Amino acid sequence: MKQDGKEQKKQGRSGKKLQLYKPRKKKSVEEDAAIQYLQAQYDKINPAEIKSFKDFPLSQKTLKGLRENNYVTPTEIQRQAIGYALQGKDILGAAKTGSGKTLAFLIPILENLFCKKWTRLDGVGALVISPTRELAYQIYEALRKVGHLHDFSAGLIIGGQNLKFERKRMDQINILICTPGRLLQHMDENPLFDCSHLQILVLDEADRCLDMGFETTMNAIIENLPSERQTLLFSATQTKSVKDLARLSLSFPTYIAPHEQAETVTPELLQQSYIICEIDEKIGILWSFIKNHLKQKVIVFMATCKQVKYTYELFCKLRPGISLLALYGTLHQEKRERIYNEFCRKSNVVLFATDLASRGLDFPRVNWVIQMDCPEDVETYIHRAGRTARGFTGKGEGLLMLLPHEEKLVEDLQKSKIPINKIQVDPSKVVAPQRKIESLLSDSTELKQSAQRAFVSYLKSVFLMKNKEIFNVQLLDTDAYARSLGLIVPPYIKFLKKYQYAQKRQSEENENSDAIEKLKAKTMSDEGSDQSEAEEEPAVELEKKLKKKKKKESLIKFDFHNDADSDEEDFLQVKRVDVDPGDEPLEEVQTSSKKKAKPLTKAAVAKKLLKKKIKVNTTVKFTEEGEAMEDEKRDVKSELAKQFVNENVGGIDIEKAKEVLQEEDKFDKIRFREKVKAKHKEQKRKLKNKKKEEEGEKDDFGSQSESDGPDLSWLPDPDKVYGKKDGSDESGGSEEGSGPEASDHEDNESAGSGDESDVDQKFHRPSKRKLVESRGIPQASVTPRKLKKVQDVAASLSVSEAEALAMQLLQAKR
Ligand code: ADP
Ligand code: MG
Repeated sequence: MKQDGKEQKKQGRSGKKLQLYKPRKKKSVEEDAAIQYLQAQYDKINPAEIKSFKDFPLSQKTLKGLRENNYVTPTEIQRQAIGYALQGKDILGAAKTGSGKTLAFLIPILENLFCKKWTRLDGVGALVISPTRELAYQIYEALRKVGHLHDFSAGLIIGGQNLKFERKRMDQINILICTPGRLLQHMDENPLFDCSHLQILVLDEADRCLDMGFETTMNAIIENLPSERQTLLFSATQTKSVKDLARLSLSFPTYIAPHEQAETVTPELLQQSYIICEIDEKIGILWSFIKNHLKQKVIVFMATCKQVKYTYELFCKLRPGISLLALYGTLHQEKRERIYNEFCRKSNVVLFATDLASRGLDFPRVNWVIQMDCPEDVETYIHRAGRTARGFTGKGEGLLMLLPHEEKLVEDLQKSKIPINKIQVDPSKVVAPQRKIESLLSDSTELKQSAQRAFVSYLKSVFLMKNKEIFNVQLLDTDAYARSLGLIVPPYIKFLKKYQYAQKRQSEENENSDAIEKLKAKTMSDEGSDQSEAEEEPAVELEKKLKKKKKKESLIKFDFHNDADSDEEDFLQVKRVDVDPGDEPLEEVQTSSKKKAKPLTKAAVAKKLLKKKIKVNTTVKFTEEGEAMEDEKRDVKSELAKQFVNENVGGIDIEKAKEVLQEEDKFDKIRFREKVKAKHKEQKRKLKNKKKEEEGEKDDFGSQSESDGPDLSWLPDPDKVYGKKDGSDESGGSEEGSGPEASDHEDNESAGSGDESDVDQKFHRPSKRKLVESRGIPQASVTPRKLKKVQDVAASLSVSEAEALAMQLLQAKR
């Protein structure tokens, strides 16, 4: 047996030498004779005489493969089914969980293709469909073990894998193990996929494959399969629905149910019990159970992914002292595979799981199956419980936790031949780590959110269940449940509130329609009389009102289904269809709401503006009197800019705008210089005025009127001292430089200088002057006294004396 798909990849990585395609062996004459002999034996098979696999007319390769794996004695379902399957009959096989159904269809597949001398060039000869990826993987592994001596190639095609990788190898696969969704994807998209020569179709967990969850997918798959084929259906809870069988074109399948007359439908070595507890006790009971079974292998089933996720996260933090694992649908495929393999391998471990793990999985040596939430129906119970006590000698125990109002399920279980006993929980042994849970949640918002999601998802799952006698959200103590999860404030249950509101509307509507009926009836009875028309009006109006309400109602329902918190699990979606078949289709509502809100395009906005003759990107400024001011943008000087402003109607020509700005910049510079010049002139004027005032004060000549204008002839020409600051660029500039920075160079007070103009220069230092002026202090008052003295003395000294004095002063300063 060659392996395709994932397994080849795995072995390739581990370094084993791979031989993808063995050269096709020439079928020897002996082989042909052997095949003929085997086929001749098929009709003589008598299940009662079969003691071991050797008693079946099987190929040596298959027999050797079975022997290698210690399969010597066939199980009951194998003994009864293999013979009919070899004869080419369609089979409806029903046998308890763990009774060996896998080999009951794998052996006939191998033999069928062997006898037909199937080669890889012949394409897909057998197709096995499984409802879950893990089960498909398990079947694939079983096929590899028992069929490795054959030359067929086998492929595992499941979701979450590399589609491209699978695609390329599709035409080389002879036995295809797959999940429905991925198979249909290949059928639709992959030109290399061809199953027109299919010989055998197998549905493992057939009732699940054919139920509502896979209905459309399976119908599409079946349509693509050749009708001339053998079909084998296997399950512990087999479908007998004529409709299902008709879908598969099975008119007279052979029904094989070796345990039909058995006392129980569950494995004999499975001990089953149930307890009745309150919703808030569940976590404590589970915790105490795990703490008391640290050396066991346990599976705990819960209703939803989010519950599994939260319980796993919480218990990991609580550290019970045993390995914990969680398996649910929303996990990444690689993680799912790793967890599956880890749980198979380990012996002291607890696996929290959704019903994803309830079907077909053959975990070895599971001691306990705990059903923490009530199973949807009897079938689900059987499959969950069936994860333990498997094979010939497998023992196991099952514990079901039920809420008081869910005890009705036990009646159904007992009616279905499931021996289950009620047991009591010893309250002294239950230790709920409530405080610790609450503190963990207060420390971690992530954990708290996870708890909130678990809470809502559980309520939703209960709400969506079909059996309303057992599942009733109204009967749940939601506050207590929230508290048990560590949530002090119970989360808002939006979907439930919406549903209640919708129901209220519905009842109102019913009342109204009753009123209409009554009015109409009255109208009819008054027929012929003059009053009849007048009577009709209220009835019509009422009907109109009712229609309006109905519209609203449909929107409420839509909201509920479109809830963001909705669980993505397949099985929930299935039930959702069941809940209220009268619901309006989702798409219809969506399209109607789309029609109302027509998207507003830019073109539409532009059209509107043009119609209203609104000029875009224009600003109108108003004076205080309310008159519109001229647009500043239009106040341009250069010819280029004027032209640009007049021409430019819309859009931006960046290059042109750049040129215009450069042109305008020249005019702006001139304007700026003029402004600076004017400012300086003003400053000089003020300074001269002040000087004049000071002089007047000194001489005690009284004040001179400002209008006369001060006599400034005694002052040095500032332009000569500083150079021409204004417009000096053009006139060539002075020695001292032209900018305002130039005056900053004169920092030092040249104490020894007796030159008047020098003293004046000090007063003209803009920085100091500004400071003085701003404080309103007369300039004379801030002239250093020392300086004044030096000036007076210096006037009466000769040059040499003055120099000596200066030197002395300088030394003293140092
Ligand atoms: P089912 O599909 O009926 O639930 P499986 O096919 O998964 O059961 O088989 C359950 C277990 O029994 C597997 O571990 C398998 O290896 C073992 N088994 C099946 N057939 C035989 C047999 N003939 N002899 C011994 N063990 C068997
Ligand atoms: Mg099975």
